[in-house]
Order: sequence, then structure tokens, then C-alpha cells
Amino acid sequence: MIGSGFAGLSAASTLAQQGCEVTILEKNYQPGGRARLYHEEGFTFDMGPSWYWMPDVFEDYYRQFGHSVSDFYELRRLDPSYRVFTQGDQKADVPAAYDSLVAFFESRESGAGARLEAFLAEAKTKYDIAMSDHVHRLSDSITEFLDLNTLLGTTRLQMFHSLKKVIRSRFKDPLLVSILEFPSLFLGATPETTPALYSMMNYADLVLGTWYPMGGMYEVIRAMVRIAEEQGVKIITGSEVTAIDVKQGVATGVICGAVHYTADAVIATSDYHYTEQVLLPEQYRRYDEHYWGKRTMSPSALIYYLGVDRRLPGLLHHNLFFDEDFAVHAREIYSDPQWPSAPLFYVCAPSVTDPTVAPEGSENLFLLMPLAPGLQDTEEMRSRYFDIMIERLEQRIGMPIRDSIVVNRSYCIRDFEKDYHAYKGNAYGLANTLMQTAILKPKMRSAKVKNLLYAGQLTVPGPGVPPAIISGQIAARDLMKQLKKTNILTKTPAHV
Ligand SMILES: Cc1cc2nc3c(=O)[nH]c(=O)nc-3n(C[C@H](O)[C@H](O)[C@H](O)COP(=O)(O)OP(=O)(O)OC[C@H]3O[C@@H](n4cnc5c(N)ncnc54)[C@H](O)[C@@H]3O)c2cc1C
Repeated sequence: MIGSGFAGLSAASTLAQQGCEVTILEKNYQPGGRARLYHEEGFTFDMGPSWYWMPDVFEDYYRQFGHSVSDFYELRRLDPSYRVFTQGDQKADVPAAYDSLVAFFESRESGAGARLEAFLAEAKTKYDIAMSDHVHRLSDSITEFLDLNTLLGTTRLQMFHSLKKVIRSRFKDPLLVSILEFPSLFLGATPETTPALYSMMNYADLVLGTWYPMGGMYEVIRAMVRIAEEQGVKIITGSEVTAIDVKQGVATGVICGAVHYTADAVIATSDYHYTEQVLLPEQYRRYDEHYWGKRTMSPSALIYYLGVDRRLPGLLHHNLFFDEDFAVHAREIYSDPQWPSAPLFYVCAPSVTDPTVAPEGSENLFLLMPLAPGLQDTEEMRSRYFDIMIERLEQRIGMPIRDSIVVNRSYCIRDFEKDYHAYKGNAYGLANTLMQTAILKPKMRSAKVKNLLYAGQLTVPGPGVPPAIISGQIAARDLMKQLKKTNILTKTPAHV
């Protein structure tokens, strides 16, 4: 198994549960992939994900191994879910309780409360159907797609309409539109290019809610590592795979510098592009550079991990600075890639909920500005955008911050490339646009190497923590089927 992010841990534990002997090789010194931790001066920063959405996926995963969430961490629902700073000095807190949410929509726009209820009922249908079975499929054939289409019914599916069109045909208030369009960012795309199928993410956001595992998002990695170890998975960190060994078209192991690991099968959860282009000889690659050059990657990001030695009462746990034009920033990410002229950004302050992530009286801040992948990333650009974000943050919360910063670390495109071999420094894989949904994503099964599979955020079902967990499960189950067919399991345990 290559990689110890959510996909690698999930695939490894699922295989080990079925009797395979599994070794995870991870290039970094800490398991967790994009979700690693960074400690400094008494602050504990989650380096990647901060939104815990779709709690059902985590619970289902733990249940697969006879556990439940409460075995690992205390999960709190955030209320309000998040704060949105909008243009014209307005701000709004999105309530967690359903009735308050409907009332909030109604207070912004007459009739919007009822329209929201109808919109969310539709979104729930999509969520239930997609999550019941389809999300767990390999997405390898058109039949699976047609099957999903039939189940949802063309009108309810709205696969060929954009999320933007569906939202804007029902809501006019700019703040409500921002709230409903924002989950498309999770999918790595814009509301124009995201199929309306993904309004199921609005259901995840507004109905299933925004949660926080006390201790931080890394608690999920700790839980998944514990499960992996209970299942007998061996995790070797600081061990970079330099090649996948293929003999007569079959994966027979991996090479880590001078060390050779033999295996009956390999699942690669490292970035798909890197795995094919660098770890495999040319004749075994399904996709070439031209193919990857045409993909719409999810954005990269400029991130600042800041320790601030004062409390900042103007912030909630999650804060969206949507006080500039999203359309302009989106154009500068996707169609005309450049450092943004007036960026939107996001500030997470987990210390608002969790006293363990910052020293007493301090605030733990994570600033994230989405950025076109592949841009030139220089110290000068980082610090220019730091100034822009800090200035807006200070202005909107009405409090100076700059002089209270005691920890200041930036992270951007070059770091994603170096730490994860991320293609163009992408932060979270491939965008879920219409042309890159389900069967149109890079395939899980290698076309040219037997017993080699890919999993994680660049293949199905897509970017994000819950999809990465599911991706690992799909790959593991498919591999088990293949191993059974080829009778490798007769010499149990198979080694992956
Ligand atoms: C800044 C940021 C914020 C995010 N916010 C959210 C959020 O709030 N909520 C959410 O749900 N999702 C969020 N995401 C997305 C989510 O974190 C990812 O989709 C998910 O973590 C991907 O998991 P993965 O296992 O597919 O990949 P990864 O986590 O990238 O794991 C792949 C692993 O493979 C390793 N690897 C690569 N090459 C090699 C090699 N040659 N040898 C050995 N190991 C190798 C890497 O080091 C890495 O550990 C965010 C992502 C980022 C970066």
C-alpha cells in the first residue's frame, strides 16, 4: 500500500480485515497525508482538513471494525455552523438548527424559507440514493452511471444542469446564494461547472451539519491508525516508494530506494499523476502528460498557520471571507490562472471550540486562500497575500492581530509538491466537474498492470475526507474480488 492518508488507511484496514497481510509505506514521517499535524510553541495545527462533514461516513467506517466514533473522540456539532463575511460589511452566522435555518433564509428573502425546504428535500433524495450504494461503486462502466440516472430520475438528478443554475433560479439574495454555492469549493470546482447532482453537498452542509472532533481533525487519523494496527497492518513511515515493480504485466511489489518489498498486489493512494508518471515505466501508464494537462485540478492553496497570543472574539470556529467577487476569483483559479486580484479566503479558529489546540488566552488560526494550481510560488507572493488577508481580517473583526502573532508558518504550492508529490501542487485532487464525475474520472483499476489499483482523491468518488475513506474501501473490496478470481488467495494471506 502506498500512502497513509485517509484512503491508504481505509484500504489497508479493509484488506487486513479480509485476511490480507498489509504494509503501508509512507514517504513522510507522520501518517495522515494531507491531514498531518504541526506543533509549535504550544499550538497544534491541523495542516489540512478542518471541516468534518458527513458524520455518517465516519460512523459507518468505524462500525465496519466494531467501533463507534465515541471510542475515539468526542464529536461536537458547531452552532452556528459558520460565519460568512460578505460584501458591504455584512456578516451572517448560519444556524445549525433546521427551523432557525429556514427562518434565517426567510428573513433574507421572502419565500426563501419554503424554497430552501424544497431544495433540501431534493438534495436529501440525491444524498440518500448516491450514498446508499452508488458512491461505493468502482465507477468503471457506463451501466453504473445509467443505473444511477434511472434511480434518481432525470429531473431530480439534474446531472446536466449546473449547481449555479439550480441555485440561482430559486434564490436571489447574494448572501444566500453564497452560502448555497460555497460547497462547490469542497468539490474543487465552481458552481457553474459543478453538476446540480452535488446539491447533495448542501444537504450535508445545512442538514447533516458541521462537526468537530475534540482534539482536532487529526483525531480521525489517530482513530484510523489504531484500527489499522488492530487489524495487523504494518505502517512504515519515512519510506518513499521510488518504483512499482511489474513483472510480465503483474504488480509484484515496490521499491523504496535500496529496499525491495514483494507483494501480491499494490494499491497506490499517492497522487495518481505522480504514481503513473514516475513510479511506473511508460508502457504501463494508462494516461499521458497530455491527458493530465487537460484535467481540471482542484485548487491549490496558500495557507498560513498562525499562533496569536490573544483571543479574537470577532471570529467563530469557521469563517468565510466572501467579501469579494467569487466569480472573479474563480476565473483567476480556473480559466485565467493567476494570483488573485481580490481573493476570497477562509479562516479556521479551532481554539474557539477546543482549548487544547492553543495555549490559554491564545488563538490558533488557519488562513486558507484558494489558488490556481501550477502558479509560480515565491516568498514575495506569499507575504503579499499574507498582508492582504491580515488586513481584511483585522478590519472585519475590528481588532489588531499582526503584533500578536507568535507563530507564523506559510504553506503553498511548492510544499504540496514536495510533501505529497502533488501534481501542480493541487491541494485536494481533481475537481468534480461534469466531465470529471464518476465514470469520467481516472480509473481505479490499472488498465495495463494486473493487481495494481489507485485510490484516493484523484479517482472515485472524489476529493474530501469522506470520499477518500470510501475510495480506500472500494479499492480494497475490488482487489479482494480480483485476488479471489486469480486464486492468489489460495496462498493466504495475500500480501499487499
Ligand atoms: C489544506 C486542505 C484543506 C482541506 N480541507 C478539507 C476539509 O475541511 N474537509 C474535507 O473533507 N476535506 C478537506 N480537504 C481534502 C482532504 O484532506 C483530502 O481529500 C484527503 O485528505 C485526501 O486523502 P488521500 O488519502 O486521498 O490523499 P493524501 O492525504 O494525499 O495521502 C496520500 C499519501 O501518499 C503519500 N505518498 C505520496 N507519494 C508517495 C511515495 N512515493 N511513497 C510513499 N508515500 C507517498 C503522501 O505523503 C500522502 O501521505 C482538504 C485538503 C487540504 C490540502
